[in-house]
Amino acid sequence: MNGKLVIFSAPSGSGKSTIINHLLKKGYNLEFSISATSRKPRGSERNGVEYYFLSPEEFKQKIAGNEFIEYEEVYQDCFYGTLKSEIERIAQKGNNTVLDIDVKGAANVKKQFGERALSIFIAPPSIEALRERLINRKTDTMEAIEKRVAKASYEMTFAKDFDIVIVNDDLQTALADAENVLKNFLG
Ligand code: ADP
Ligand code: 5GP
Repeated sequence: MNGKLVIFSAPSGSGKSTIINHLLKKGYNLEFSISATSRKPRGSERNGVEYYFLSPEEFKQKIAGNEFIEYEEVYQDCFYGTLKSEIERIAQKGNNTVLDIDVKGAANVKKQFGERALSIFIAPPSIEALRERLINRKTDTMEAIEKRVAKASYEMTFAKDFDIVIVNDDLQTALADAENVLKNFLG
């Protein structure tokens, strides 16, 4: 009953969530892996839907209890991690897992799961387009946007380590590319 893992990673604002949400609606027995995070909910985010929102203390307890497949301090004082229980929950239902995790987490999961996992990097057409998308999304403060943009160039250097890179310039093209890649992998 072991499903496959499809790992998505990208600089924030590249359109990764847009692409993932599109694929989740298409079937393929895909289920989103809800990560744990120590950051506070943003906008309409709910606990147990977008993330399991934990206090920094709760997050540290789970690290100490070896409850994560992987975790990273993606932004200063903001921890994110994939819980073992979450991957087991999805696999038990016979579903394939979709992960939205940072570049280091992606490399880590790919290493652990090998052929059972496919890693996909979603690249923006440019850093300027990335900034514009984050501004237009209206979910982050300018300070948070600049933090994310500043990290993007660094994250782009990891693209070469992924199984597949999709440039999200024209959205419809990127959605079609992502679906083709997924179909090939799931067989
Ligand atoms: P991420 O999950 O990578 O942070 P989102 O999916 O939230 O990114 O996309 C960031 C913003 O850019 C959203 O407002 C989204 O609607 C928009 N967007 C996504 N893809 C494109 C695209 N190809 N062209 C223009 N805007 C896009
Ligand atoms: P955001 O705060 O915008 O929701 O996410 C910030 C970053 O954290 C994104 O790059 C996202 O992919 C990453 N992230 C979310 N969940 C996890 C996780 O479980 N592990 C790792 N390593 N990164 C994660």
